[in-house]
Amino acid sequence: MSRFWSPIVHGLNPYVPGEQPKLANLVKLNTNENPYGPSPKVLEAIRLGTSDTLRLYPDPNATALKQAIADYYHVNSAQVFVGNGSDEVLAHVFHAFFQHEAPLLFPDISYSFYPVYCQLYQIDYQTLPLSDEFEIRVDDYFRDNGGIIFPNPNAPTSRLLTLVEIEKLLKNNTESVVVIDEAYIDFGGESAISLVDQYPNLLVTQTLSKSRSLAGLRIGFAIGHPDLIEGLIRVKDSFNSYPLDSLAIKAGVAAFEDIAYFEQTCQKVISSREWVISELKALGFIVLPSGANFVFVRHPENDAAKLFAGLREEGVIVRHFKQERIEQYLRITIGTKEENQQLLAVMDTLV
Ligand code: PMP
Repeated sequence: MSRFWSPIVHGLNPYVPGEQPKLANLVKLNTNENPYGPSPKVLEAIRLGTSDTLRLYPDPNATALKQAIADYYHVNSAQVFVGNGSDEVLAHVFHAFFQHEAPLLFPDISYSFYPVYCQLYQIDYQTLPLSDEFEIRVDDYFRDNGGIIFPNPNAPTSRLLTLVEIEKLLKNNTESVVVIDEAYIDFGGESAISLVDQYPNLLVTQTLSKSRSLAGLRIGFAIGHPDLIEGLIRVKDSFNSYPLDSLAIKAGVAAFEDIAYFEQTCQKVISSREWVISELKALGFIVLPSGANFVFVRHPENDAAKLFAGLREEGVIVRHFKQERIEQYLRITIGTKEENQQLLAVMDTLV
């Protein structure tokens, strides 16, 4: 049936998400989900919203959610954009800001959805190599470009860039949009949202999928100058009027209001991460410094693909990327205490 496709579809190489296997007793450490459930207040908001009112369309502007996010970050709601997961927000970002003559710049090792959006929206891009220690060197980005994007902390490397470095980049790059994808920022990093009032070309994207434990609901957002937000709204309203359903809007508001639960669960993930890092190091692993809810590791004497397969046989699923420079690494999500113990017990038998 492919003869019915539009020509562009033949050339697409879609993003491949981490698998979601339906096996019992699986230790699932492959897609950076939060090991703890969402706030009980979020579940209550969904229960209360599950009523006869579902016959109505949701608020196309998700006003209540934008306001809750704006209140949390002390910005104006005109500086907030929301979408169906940050993947959708990012898709609109690529569409709205990166179709220029000069190439979009991003790191050679980064979120693998970026080149997919470039292909879909026919955006020219150039990748810049991370340092040997997998650090982003901001000076490399001081060149002609049609936009800059990278995750902070970077994925899948988990390495965090300081706000000082990000500001250095912004001072040297004022003529194109700089997007900081902060999907994992709440696990110990400092958000660049504090810089949006100073830099009108800065856009920060975040998600409720990780630190707020709502991957299943699909809520993402962006914060930046109202002119950038207006550009995103124009694209969104040319695509889907209602990207967030009414349950997601209510749950998102509740998630931002329950600050205590959010802070406690993030702190638990951070402490577990530090414990997992020390245990993996004791098994001989080389572990990159992590500012995320996952670690990026290699073992000098063990092939990563073999470790991946060995873990899988024991029901422990992690992520392995068959990509140049990182084929000897595994990306492992931080799980519950029991899951982390199981991971380490199996690793102990493999190395
Ligand atoms: N950015 C990065 C760097 C990610 O790893 C992910 C998760 N795959 C996302 C964005 C998208 O997350 P979501 O669509 O669940 O908000």
